[in-house]
Amino acid sequence: MSAFVEPLRLVLLAETPQWSELLRERLGAVGGPLPLSCAANWPDARRLLDAADDAVLLTTPAHLPDSRRCNAPIILLLEHEPADTPPQVCDWLVRDQLSADVLRRSLRYVREQGRLRLTLQRLAEQDALTGIANRQGFHTLLAARLDEPDRHGLALIQLDLDNFRQANDALGDCAGDQLIKQVVARLQQYLERGDQMARLGGDEFALLLHRHDDLERLHARVQHLLEALGEPYWVDGESLLLGCSLGVALAKPASTADALMWHAHIAMQQAKSRQGCTYHLYDERLDHGMRSQVDLQRELRRALRKGELQLHYQPRLCLRSGTVVGLEALVRWQHEAHGLLLPGEFVPLAEECGLIVPLGYWVIDRAMRDMQWLRERGQPPLHMAINLSFRQFQDSQLLPTLERLIDSCGVDSHWLEFELTETAVMRRSDYVLQTMRRLGHLGVRFSLDDFGTGFSSFEHLSNLPIALLKIDRSFVTGMETRPQSQQLVQAMISLAHNLDLQVVAEGVENWEQLQLLREFGCDQVQGYLISKAMPLAELARFLSAGIRQPLSGGRL
Ligand code: C2E
Ligand code: MG
Ligand code: MG
Repeated sequence: MSAFVEPLRLVLLAETPQWSELLRERLGAVGGPLPLSCAANWPDARRLLDAADDAVLLTTPAHLPDSRRCNAPIILLLEHEPADTPPQVCDWLVRDQLSADVLRRSLRYVREQGRLRLTLQRLAEQDALTGIANRQGFHTLLAARLDEPDRHGLALIQLDLDNFRQANDALGDCAGDQLIKQVVARLQQYLERGDQMARLGGDEFALLLHRHDDLERLHARVQHLLEALGEPYWVDGESLLLGCSLGVALAKPASTADALMWHAHIAMQQAKSRQGCTYHLYDERLDHGMRSQVDLQRELRRALRKGELQLHYQPRLCLRSGTVVGLEALVRWQHEAHGLLLPGEFVPLAEECGLIVPLGYWVIDRAMRDMQWLRERGQPPLHMAINLSFRQFQDSQLLPTLERLIDSCGVDSHWLEFELTETAVMRRSDYVLQTMRRLGHLGVRFSLDDFGTGFSSFEHLSNLPIALLKIDRSFVTGMETRPQSQQLVQAMISLAHNLDLQVVAEGVENWEQLQLLREFGCDQVQGYLISKAMPLAELARFLSAGIRQPLSGGRL
């Protein structure tokens, strides 16, 4: 039989020295570069195995590691022929039958087996399009990294491209693939030694950054990443912008791979609720007791049952009359342990598990009752804007439930307004259009929320029964010092007016912004300059005091 030509590192982990003597003697006859190292314990053996690409572990039943901990093929060393062998064992050798020939054949066999297993593992754990790890592969490597002594300082980033699906639908799968490859190339440039990345799904990625105890440095790196991903992409000669949302979670001493991925996911959802290219660091406050979606669902159900949800109202001001003409209902969760939670901390999760449907009905019901309450106290009628998620649109009971609620609260439905996001109306647009029309027959009107952050076509917009367009806060923030933002805002206002839509600017925080918006012909403003969202009682006082006085102190 021919000698071994390819090197194979053999690592022996056995309690008795007889095995090493016997193996060395037989290996001499097998020939080839087959260095044998002896390990005193499993950590030593693992280190030796990890140091070589082609390595085999030879061990006795007393030292056999479980399959999850050992990637190398295992040969079991036995005193007698076994009746059965554990599944992680590739081959076995019996001491008094161990000839050079048997050893040579066994080593060849396990080497081939090892390679085959590695290839299969790669295929199962690799993303076919980009060649980087897929979700399964990432989970394996994350678990291994968390097992290491220096796991402290690991930061996990989960990243989702906000409007990839729409771009893919618009440009075709082929262009979508090119886009994903470009994103991966940008991510690759951003990685430092020891960092890892994976594609978790269609447009979801994970990055594992090491040594990130320093939060400031982490913040700077994530900002840098957001900037890199925010640059235009070129596909088929067309330039394209992609928004992205990042969730960051830091490994703790007891973190498991599942928990860390869940935390990064929650943080990403929170970033997503803010729109635009943003990131969110996982908030410890949600850590206690909410380790999984199941826990969160249970907590939210309890919140609905026990009345822990509240509505705060933010006024909308008409720039022409200087009076409050509408309110936006914004949900809050008064959590018994974590205090007042903002929608970004639970609405995305409620959307994911479907609880947004009952939560949404609660919001509609509460808002209508509060409208009535204000009317009974002599307030003039105001438009009540309620945010609707796409998921709520998919509920077949939406129309009859709404009819019933309007009926039982006794409100005039003409004062009801539903805010939908661009992304929501672009999804399954024919279906959305049909539902909007049906709801429109009830008398309610619609506004397009967070305008400018999504991906909607002019043609589609002009076909939707929308009354108002709300310019996203991100365009208003800092516009007083940014001529480019001013041009954009001006263009959005004229676009809306061309479509016979009224325009509301969100996030107005200072007089300069208000003044510019007025010059541009904006119809309404909403933001901290007028007021933050407030509970009903406070709102009633605010409305009674009248908005004209405080604003006329400025230049209204
Ligand atoms: P949105 O509909 O765009 O609501 C505006 C958000 O901007 C609110 O945050 C509001 O408090 C904040 N905001 C208003 N003026 C200013 C300002 O001048 N400066 C700054 N920095 N922020 C301002 P909030 O209450 O955290 O709501 C976040 C999002 O959660 C909402 O964005 C909406 O998409 C969603 N949401 C809120 N309530 C509900 C609900 O009842 N149902 C559903 N489906 N979504 C909701
Ligand atoms: Mg809104
Ligand atoms: Mg908005």
